[in-house]
Amino acid sequence: MVRIRVAGSETMTDLVRDTAGRPLRNLRVSVTDRCNLRCSYCMPEEDYVWLPKERLLHYGQLTAIVAAAVDLGVRKVRLTGGEPLLRRELWRFVEQLRALSGLQEIAMTTNGLLMAEQAEQLFGAGLDRVTISMDTLHADRFRTATRRDGLSATLEGIQAAATHGSAPVKLNMVVQRGVNDDEVLDLLHFAREGGHELRYIEYMDVDGATRWDPTQVVSRQEILERIQERHGPAVPVDKVGAAPADRFRLDDGTVFGVISSTTQPFCGTCDRARLTADGRLFTCLYATEGLPLGPGVVQGWSTERLSQEIRQRWARRIDRGAEERLALGSERSPTSVPELRADPHLEMHTKGG
Ligand code: SAM
Ligand code: SF4
Ligand code: SF4
Repeated sequence: MVRIRVAGSETMTDLVRDTAGRPLRNLRVSVTDRCNLRCSYCMPEEDYVWLPKERLLHYGQLTAIVAAAVDLGVRKVRLTGGEPLLRRELWRFVEQLRALSGLQEIAMTTNGLLMAEQAEQLFGAGLDRVTISMDTLHADRFRTATRRDGLSATLEGIQAAATHGSAPVKLNMVVQRGVNDDEVLDLLHFAREGGHELRYIEYMDVDGATRWDPTQVVSRQEILERIQERHGPAVPVDKVGAAPADRFRLDDGTVFGVISSTTQPFCGTCDRARLTADGRLFTCLYATEGLPLGPGVVQGWSTERLSQEIRQRWARRIDRGAEERLALGSERSPTSVPELRADPHLEMHTKGG
């Protein structure tokens, strides 16, 4: 074990780097592959093959894997899915994670539909911050794009997260040409009025986005142009660590982010791994094979054993999935439906977005 001193007095373990020298700092935990929406860019199919219920790990088992990852340098966990708030009593998991010394931040990405009823308990249990997906301000458009009614519940969820959490709520908007790109400025205003921070996400050809169409991608450059045309210069804000969003500030103080995985990927600094609800660890959003930790944790493997397995996998990591997709040019496309049905682990909603 190597102990290093980082920036001043903080002592932390820094045990593993991949083949490109990237440390393991962030872990996204997909607590369920199920969802109560069917967003056209994520789950457009009529039906899905789900992870078998009997293989899903309970919170104690997931916490054991997270603890092993924390020992290797993970400092931030993001709960995601599928829709994380569908997992029963999620606050209990948050409480268990909070007890891990060394873990600095517990965040969540959610569609927010069930946030109003859970926010108080979640933040009470130690959740630090929340990102809520918010693609439109029009109820009919929401219904068409997600095949469910839910705009008002999402708005209530955003309000509840703002009330009970101490950090500003982040809003994720996947911008799709011809679907919601006419709302780029409206959502910025909505976020500013509510004291939230908006992040624009380029439409990605992640596995599961089976209707992905390059002509629907609105690039970071185009998003910035549209904003600057109305609001003047958007000045880059210093980037914190390896965060996926590039942040900008407008003259009036409004800060927003852009996640440009499709046109300007940031794999070079990527320090994220993903854990599925059945305990499979993926070292890239585009990875086709994961490390199956589920059977080991069910057998009662020690934290040291789990850490050893993760360390070995991370040390061999060569992933640069989004950069490789970009290099394919016009050949790029998401994985086909039959392939996804053969292995649902490939789906973005299983791996955790
Ligand atoms: N259900 C939760 C939600 O929607 O926030 C968490 C899981 S979702 C997979 C995580 C994030 O991935 C969401 O912000 C969603 O908008 C984003 N996402 C899903 N499919 C995408 C795609 N094809 N391109 C870009 N972002 C996508
Ligand atoms: Fe569900 Fe989130 Fe995917 Fe939408 S983006 S279908 S809310 S998992
Ligand atoms: Fe990281 Fe893979 Fe995304 Fe690149 S594509 S930023 S390596 S998760």
